[in-house]
Amino acid sequence: MTFPYYDRLDQRQQAIYRASDAVTRIEVNDAAALATGVHALETALASEARAGVQAAAQALADGLLDRLGVAQVGVKVLAVRPSRGWGELHGLYEREPGQRALISVWMRTARNKRVVAFRTFLRTFLHEICHHLDYEHLRLVDSYHTEGFFKRESSLVRQLIGAPARVARTQIQPAEPDPRLSARRAAEALAQCRRVLGRDPPAPERDDR
Ligand SMILES: [Zn+2]
Repeated sequence: MTFPYYDRLDQRQQAIYRASDAVTRIEVNDAAALATGVHALETALASEARAGVQAAAQALADGLLDRLGVAQVGVKVLAVRPSRGWGELHGLYEREPGQRALISVWMRTARNKRVVAFRTFLRTFLHEICHHLDYEHLRLVDSYHTEGFFKRESSLVRQLIGAPARVARTQIQPAEPDPRLSARRAAEALAQCRRVLGRDPPAPERDDR
């Protein structure tokens, strides 16, 4: 099954989409050895100290990508999620020619400014890692949200913390825009979402804590 935006892609893009859709798992050698790093990230998030969360997330990314033998990525952890009419931005993956790719993950909800649940944070982090792996591990020339992509994301979650819990979904909650996010960056993020989804981002998952 393909997502509806598949029909709007050109032939070259459809070939990339099908290649992405065909891979449903990322195999991490000795994933259990990353448990300490996962625990460190959970502890850092519970402490609510942004710099500590960023350091733990960077270390986990380093360990994971090292195991997969692919280029490293920079990880930036930011405070309150940017939000607009379409909802909240959870994470972002950016790559520029000749530069180290960069993952940004936000640790507080736009609405209540609360620290997000650990599993939600980890899934967002691994989602952005999956975009990186599309280029660096699967050698795809673009990164699309396909069923295969989401299965790869789930396979990483399972290997790092076990079976996924049921996540409640809720409507987009309107929230005040975050003035700390530049308009340019928000526009880029939205454009990226539209490019890969073929539409505006879906309602975010609720942080049930
Ligand atoms: Zn994505």
